[in-house]
Amino acid sequence: MENYKKIIEDIYAEVKNIEDIGTVANYIPELAFVDASNFGIHITNTNNASFGVGNFNKKFSIQSISKLLSLTLAYKLEGEKLWDRVDVEPSGNPFNSFLQLETDLGKPRNPFINSGAIVVCDVLLSHLKNPKEDFLEFCREISNNATLNYSKKVTQSEKDSGFRNNAICNFIKSFGNINNDVAPVIDFYFHICSLEMSCKELSEIFMFLANDEFSTSKGNKILSMSQAKRINAIMLTCGFYDESGEFAFRVGLPGKSGVGGGIIAIHPDKYCIAVWSPKLNEQSNSYKGMLFLEKFTTRTTSSIF
Ligand code: GLU
Repeated sequence: MENYKKIIEDIYAEVKNIEDIGTVANYIPELAFVDASNFGIHITNTNNASFGVGNFNKKFSIQSISKLLSLTLAYKLEGEKLWDRVDVEPSGNPFNSFLQLETDLGKPRNPFINSGAIVVCDVLLSHLKNPKEDFLEFCREISNNATLNYSKKVTQSEKDSGFRNNAICNFIKSFGNINNDVAPVIDFYFHICSLEMSCKELSEIFMFLANDEFSTSKGNKILSMSQAKRINAIMLTCGFYDESGEFAFRVGLPGKSGVGGGIIAIHPDKYCIAVWSPKLNEQSNSYKGMLFLEKFTTRTTSSIF
Protein backbone atom coordinates (compact mmCIF):
# COMPACT_ATOMS: atom_id res chain seq x y z
CA MET A 1 0.00 0.00 0.00
CA GLU A 2 2.84 2.40 0.87
CA ASN A 3 3.97 2.66 -2.77
CA TYR A 4 0.39 3.33 -3.94
CA LYS A 5 -0.21 6.29 -1.59
CA LYS A 6 1.94 8.85 -3.36
CA ILE A 7 0.68 7.74 -6.77
CA ILE A 8 -2.93 8.11 -5.61
CA GLU A 9 -2.27 11.56 -4.11
CA ASP A 10 -0.48 12.75 -7.25
CA ILE A 11 -3.17 11.54 -9.65
CA TYR A 12 -5.90 12.92 -7.38
CA ALA A 13 -4.31 16.41 -7.45
CA GLU A 14 -3.83 16.19 -11.21
CA VAL A 15 -7.36 14.99 -12.09
CA LYS A 16 -9.06 17.32 -9.60
CA ASN A 17 -7.80 20.31 -11.58
CA ILE A 18 -8.75 19.01 -15.00
CA GLU A 19 -11.88 20.59 -16.49
CA ASP A 20 -14.79 18.17 -16.02
CA ILE A 21 -16.64 17.80 -19.31
CA GLY A 22 -19.32 15.55 -17.78
CA THR A 23 -22.80 16.38 -16.44
CA VAL A 24 -24.57 15.27 -13.27
CA ALA A 25 -27.45 12.80 -13.83
CA ASN A 26 -30.77 14.63 -13.49
CA TYR A 27 -33.30 12.18 -14.96
CA ILE A 28 -33.76 11.09 -11.33
CA PRO A 29 -34.35 14.62 -9.96
CA GLU A 30 -32.91 13.92 -6.49
CA LEU A 31 -29.50 13.01 -7.94
CA ALA A 32 -29.11 16.52 -9.39
CA PHE A 33 -28.84 18.05 -5.88
CA VAL A 34 -25.38 16.58 -5.35
CA ASP A 35 -22.38 18.93 -5.09
CA ALA A 36 -20.64 18.16 -8.38
CA SER A 37 -17.21 19.11 -7.01
CA ASN A 38 -17.08 16.03 -4.76
CA PHE A 39 -14.14 13.81 -5.60
CA GLY A 40 -13.04 10.89 -3.46
CA ILE A 41 -10.89 7.77 -3.75
CA HIS A 42 -10.46 4.86 -1.37
CA ILE A 43 -8.51 1.64 -1.75
CA THR A 44 -8.49 -1.47 0.47
CA ASN A 45 -6.10 -4.34 -0.17
CA THR A 46 -6.13 -8.03 0.70
CA ASN A 47 -3.83 -7.36 3.72
CA ASN A 48 -6.52 -5.01 5.06
CA ALA A 49 -4.36 -1.94 4.52
CA SER A 50 -6.31 1.02 3.20
CA PHE A 51 -5.89 4.59 2.04
CA GLY A 52 -8.21 7.39 0.96
CA VAL A 53 -8.05 10.94 -0.43
CA GLY A 54 -10.64 13.68 -0.95
CA ASN A 55 -14.31 13.06 -0.08
CA PHE A 56 -13.81 9.35 0.52
CA ASN A 57 -15.88 9.29 3.71
CA LYS A 58 -18.96 11.03 2.29
CA LYS A 59 -21.95 8.80 1.47
CA PHE A 60 -23.53 9.12 -1.97
CA SER A 61 -26.11 7.30 -4.10
CA ILE A 62 -24.32 4.19 -5.39
CA GLN A 63 -27.08 3.47 -7.94
CA SER A 64 -26.12 0.64 -10.30
CA ILE A 65 -23.10 -0.41 -8.24
CA SER A 66 -25.70 -2.05 -5.97
CA LYS A 67 -26.62 -4.34 -8.89
CA LEU A 68 -23.45 -6.18 -7.99
CA LEU A 69 -24.79 -6.89 -4.51
CA SER A 70 -28.24 -7.96 -5.67
CA LEU A 71 -26.64 -10.21 -8.30
CA THR A 72 -24.37 -11.76 -5.65
CA LEU A 73 -27.29 -12.58 -3.37
CA ALA A 74 -29.39 -13.94 -6.25
CA TYR A 75 -26.49 -16.11 -7.49
CA LYS A 76 -25.98 -17.42 -3.97
CA LEU A 77 -29.67 -18.32 -3.63
CA GLU A 78 -30.50 -19.45 -7.16
CA GLY A 79 -27.16 -20.96 -8.29
CA GLU A 80 -26.55 -21.67 -11.98
CA LYS A 81 -30.30 -21.59 -12.76
CA LEU A 82 -30.00 -17.82 -12.59
CA TRP A 83 -28.43 -17.77 -16.06
CA ASP A 84 -31.64 -19.21 -17.58
CA ARG A 85 -33.30 -15.92 -16.66
CA VAL A 86 -30.53 -13.42 -17.45
CA ASP A 87 -27.64 -13.67 -19.90
CA VAL A 88 -23.95 -12.75 -19.46
CA GLU A 89 -23.33 -10.90 -22.73
CA PRO A 90 -22.39 -7.24 -23.13
CA SER A 91 -25.35 -5.30 -24.49
CA GLY A 92 -23.49 -2.53 -26.33
CA ASN A 93 -26.54 -0.38 -25.55
CA PRO A 94 -27.46 2.21 -22.93
CA PHE A 95 -28.32 0.97 -19.41
CA ASN A 96 -32.06 1.58 -19.82
CA SER A 97 -32.50 0.31 -23.36
CA PHE A 98 -35.43 -1.82 -24.60
CA LEU A 99 -33.88 -2.61 -27.96
CA GLN A 100 -32.67 -6.19 -27.48
CA LEU A 101 -35.48 -7.27 -25.16
CA GLU A 102 -37.90 -7.70 -28.05
CA THR A 103 -35.65 -9.97 -30.13
CA ASP A 104 -34.24 -11.75 -27.05
CA LEU A 105 -37.80 -12.60 -25.93
CA GLY A 106 -37.52 -10.85 -22.57
CA LYS A 107 -34.20 -12.35 -21.47
CA PRO A 108 -31.94 -9.41 -20.55
CA ARG A 109 -28.41 -9.40 -21.97
CA ASN A 110 -26.76 -9.13 -18.54
CA PRO A 111 -27.52 -8.44 -14.86
CA PHE A 112 -25.94 -4.96 -14.84
CA ILE A 113 -28.29 -3.16 -17.20
CA ASN A 114 -31.66 -2.12 -15.77
CA SER A 115 -33.62 -4.94 -17.43
CA GLY A 116 -31.23 -7.57 -16.03
CA ALA A 117 -31.21 -6.06 -12.57
CA ILE A 118 -35.02 -5.98 -12.57
CA VAL A 119 -35.13 -9.73 -13.33
CA VAL A 120 -32.58 -10.28 -10.53
CA CYS A 121 -34.93 -8.38 -8.18
CA ASP A 122 -37.77 -10.68 -9.23
CA VAL A 123 -35.59 -13.73 -8.42
CA LEU A 124 -34.79 -12.26 -4.99
CA LEU A 125 -38.43 -11.47 -4.32
CA SER A 126 -39.26 -15.14 -4.84
CA HIS A 127 -36.59 -16.21 -2.30
CA LEU A 128 -36.75 -13.60 0.46
CA LYS A 129 -39.44 -13.20 3.12
CA ASN A 130 -38.78 -9.50 3.67
CA PRO A 131 -36.82 -8.52 0.55
CA LYS A 132 -35.88 -4.93 1.45
CA GLU A 133 -34.89 -5.78 5.03
CA ASP A 134 -33.15 -9.06 4.11
CA PHE A 135 -31.14 -7.47 1.31
CA LEU A 136 -30.02 -4.65 3.59
CA GLU A 137 -29.06 -7.17 6.25
CA PHE A 138 -27.01 -9.08 3.65
CA CYS A 139 -25.12 -5.87 2.74
CA ARG A 140 -24.61 -4.99 6.40
CA GLU A 141 -23.22 -8.42 7.16
CA ILE A 142 -20.73 -8.40 4.24
CA SER A 143 -19.48 -4.96 5.17
CA ASN A 144 -19.80 -5.43 8.94
CA ASN A 145 -21.42 -2.01 8.87
CA ALA A 146 -24.84 -1.48 10.44
CA THR A 147 -25.08 2.11 9.16
CA LEU A 148 -25.73 1.07 5.54
CA ASN A 149 -29.16 2.19 4.40
CA TYR A 150 -31.44 3.20 1.54
CA SER A 151 -32.11 6.87 0.87
CA LYS A 152 -35.86 7.47 1.16
CA LYS A 153 -35.57 10.65 -0.91
CA VAL A 154 -33.81 8.88 -3.78
CA THR A 155 -36.24 5.92 -3.68
CA GLN A 156 -39.16 8.33 -3.93
CA SER A 157 -37.53 10.33 -6.70
CA GLU A 158 -36.89 7.13 -8.70
CA LYS A 159 -40.53 6.15 -8.23
CA ASP A 160 -41.79 9.55 -9.35
CA SER A 161 -39.67 9.44 -12.51
CA GLY A 162 -39.58 5.68 -13.09
CA PHE A 163 -41.77 5.39 -16.20
CA ARG A 164 -39.09 3.65 -18.20
CA ASN A 165 -38.16 1.10 -15.53
CA ASN A 166 -41.85 0.30 -14.98
CA ALA A 167 -42.26 -0.16 -18.72
CA ILE A 168 -39.18 -2.44 -18.89
CA CYS A 169 -40.55 -4.60 -16.07
CA ASN A 170 -43.99 -4.85 -17.71
CA PHE A 171 -42.40 -5.66 -21.05
CA ILE A 172 -40.31 -8.50 -19.58
CA LYS A 173 -43.36 -9.80 -17.73
CA SER A 174 -45.21 -10.02 -21.04
CA PHE A 175 -42.60 -12.63 -22.07
CA GLY A 176 -43.06 -14.54 -18.80
CA ASN A 177 -39.66 -13.67 -17.30
CA ILE A 178 -41.06 -11.83 -14.25
CA ASN A 179 -42.88 -14.11 -11.79
CA ASN A 180 -44.04 -11.60 -9.18
CA ASP A 181 -46.31 -8.58 -9.61
CA VAL A 182 -44.62 -5.63 -11.29
CA ALA A 183 -45.25 -3.15 -8.43
CA PRO A 184 -43.27 -4.97 -5.69
CA VAL A 185 -40.47 -5.88 -8.12
CA ILE A 186 -40.02 -2.25 -9.14
CA ASP A 187 -40.37 -0.99 -5.57
CA PHE A 188 -37.56 -3.38 -4.54
CA TYR A 189 -35.44 -2.34 -7.55
CA PHE A 190 -35.76 1.36 -6.64
CA HIS A 191 -34.77 0.66 -3.05
CA ILE A 192 -31.68 -1.24 -4.12
CA CYS A 193 -30.64 1.61 -6.45
CA SER A 194 -31.01 4.13 -3.61
CA LEU A 195 -28.44 2.48 -1.36
CA GLU A 196 -25.89 5.00 -0.07
CA MET A 197 -22.22 4.35 0.68
CA SER A 198 -18.94 6.22 0.82
CA CYS A 199 -15.88 5.27 -1.24
CA LYS A 200 -14.39 3.77 1.92
CA GLU A 201 -17.48 1.61 2.49
CA LEU A 202 -17.55 0.58 -1.17
CA SER A 203 -13.92 -0.49 -1.21
CA GLU A 204 -14.59 -2.56 1.93
CA ILE A 205 -17.86 -4.23 0.95
CA PHE A 206 -16.52 -5.59 -2.34
CA MET A 207 -13.40 -7.20 -0.88
CA PHE A 208 -15.20 -10.54 -1.16
CA LEU A 209 -14.59 -10.27 -4.92
CA ALA A 210 -10.87 -9.53 -4.48
CA ASN A 211 -9.96 -11.87 -1.66
CA ASP A 212 -10.56 -15.65 -1.89
CA GLU A 213 -10.13 -15.93 1.89
CA PHE A 214 -12.91 -13.44 2.66
CA SER A 215 -15.56 -14.38 5.22
CA THR A 216 -17.90 -12.13 7.23
CA SER A 217 -17.52 -11.41 10.94
CA LYS A 218 -20.14 -14.15 11.46
CA GLY A 219 -17.80 -16.54 9.62
CA ASN A 220 -19.94 -16.83 6.45
CA LYS A 221 -18.38 -17.10 3.01
CA ILE A 222 -20.19 -15.02 0.39
CA LEU A 223 -19.36 -16.85 -2.85
CA SER A 224 -17.23 -19.78 -3.93
CA MET A 225 -14.03 -18.95 -5.83
CA SER A 226 -15.61 -20.02 -9.09
CA GLN A 227 -18.69 -17.84 -8.49
CA ALA A 228 -16.53 -14.82 -7.63
CA LYS A 229 -14.54 -15.41 -10.83
CA ARG A 230 -17.76 -15.37 -12.84
CA ILE A 231 -19.00 -12.15 -11.28
CA ASN A 232 -15.63 -10.50 -11.98
CA ALA A 233 -15.89 -11.71 -15.58
CA ILE A 234 -19.34 -10.16 -16.01
CA MET A 235 -18.03 -6.92 -14.54
CA LEU A 236 -15.16 -6.84 -17.01
CA THR A 237 -17.41 -7.43 -20.00
CA CYS A 238 -20.61 -5.63 -18.91
CA GLY A 239 -19.87 -3.28 -15.98
CA PHE A 240 -19.92 0.02 -17.88
CA TYR A 241 -23.04 -0.10 -20.07
CA ASP A 242 -22.08 0.51 -23.70
CA GLU A 243 -18.59 1.59 -22.65
CA SER A 244 -17.49 -1.70 -21.08
CA GLY A 245 -14.90 -2.32 -23.79
CA GLU A 246 -13.55 1.19 -23.30
CA PHE A 247 -13.12 0.66 -19.55
CA ALA A 248 -11.34 -2.66 -20.07
CA PHE A 249 -9.17 -1.01 -22.73
CA ARG A 250 -8.23 2.05 -20.67
CA VAL A 251 -8.26 0.69 -17.10
CA GLY A 252 -7.92 -3.09 -17.46
CA LEU A 253 -9.84 -4.16 -14.34
CA PRO A 254 -13.28 -5.65 -13.66
CA GLY A 255 -15.47 -2.81 -12.41
CA LYS A 256 -18.95 -1.39 -12.04
CA SER A 257 -20.24 2.14 -12.31
CA GLY A 258 -23.42 3.89 -11.21
CA VAL A 259 -25.18 7.06 -12.37
CA GLY A 260 -24.42 8.64 -8.97
CA GLY A 261 -20.84 8.98 -10.29
CA GLY A 262 -19.30 6.11 -8.33
CA ILE A 263 -17.07 3.38 -9.74
CA ILE A 264 -15.60 0.34 -8.05
CA ALA A 265 -12.81 -1.69 -9.61
CA ILE A 266 -11.39 -4.99 -8.44
CA HIS A 267 -7.90 -6.40 -8.85
CA PRO A 268 -8.45 -10.08 -7.94
CA ASP A 269 -6.05 -11.16 -5.17
CA LYS A 270 -4.87 -7.56 -4.68
CA TYR A 271 -7.32 -4.78 -3.94
CA CYS A 272 -10.66 -3.06 -4.39
CA ILE A 273 -10.64 0.65 -5.27
CA ALA A 274 -13.63 3.02 -5.24
CA VAL A 275 -13.80 6.43 -6.92
CA TRP A 276 -16.56 9.04 -6.78
CA SER A 277 -16.99 12.10 -8.97
CA PRO A 278 -20.65 12.91 -9.87
CA LYS A 279 -20.32 14.31 -13.39
CA LEU A 280 -20.94 11.62 -16.03
CA ASN A 281 -19.74 11.26 -19.61
CA GLU A 282 -22.13 10.55 -22.48
CA GLN A 283 -22.28 6.83 -21.66
CA SER A 284 -23.31 7.65 -18.04
CA ASN A 285 -19.97 6.74 -16.44
CA SER A 286 -18.08 9.12 -14.13
CA TYR A 287 -15.77 11.21 -16.32
CA LYS A 288 -13.10 11.88 -13.70
CA GLY A 289 -13.57 8.46 -12.12
CA MET A 290 -12.56 6.72 -15.33
CA LEU A 291 -9.71 9.13 -15.90
CA PHE A 292 -8.38 8.57 -12.38
CA LEU A 293 -8.49 4.79 -12.72
CA GLU A 294 -6.83 4.82 -16.11
CA LYS A 295 -3.90 6.81 -14.71
CA PHE A 296 -3.84 4.68 -11.55
CA THR A 297 -3.52 1.29 -13.26
CA THR A 298 -1.04 2.74 -15.75
CA ARG A 299 1.30 4.21 -13.12
CA THR A 300 1.04 1.27 -10.72
CA THR A 301 1.17 -1.21 -13.65
CA SER A 302 -1.54 -3.13 -11.82
CA SER A 303 -4.16 -4.05 -14.41
CA ILE A 304 -5.12 -7.72 -14.86
CA PHE A 305 -3.55 -7.81 -18.32
N1 GLU B 1 -31.65 3.81 -10.64
C1 GLU B 1 -31.06 4.00 -11.91
C2 GLU B 1 -32.08 3.65 -13.00
O1 GLU B 1 -32.79 2.71 -12.86
C3 GLU B 1 -29.83 3.14 -12.03
C4 GLU B 1 -29.06 3.47 -13.24
C5 GLU B 1 -27.59 3.20 -13.14
O2 GLU B 1 -26.88 3.59 -12.19
O3 GLU B 1 -27.12 2.56 -14.10
O4 GLU B 1 -32.22 4.30 -13.99
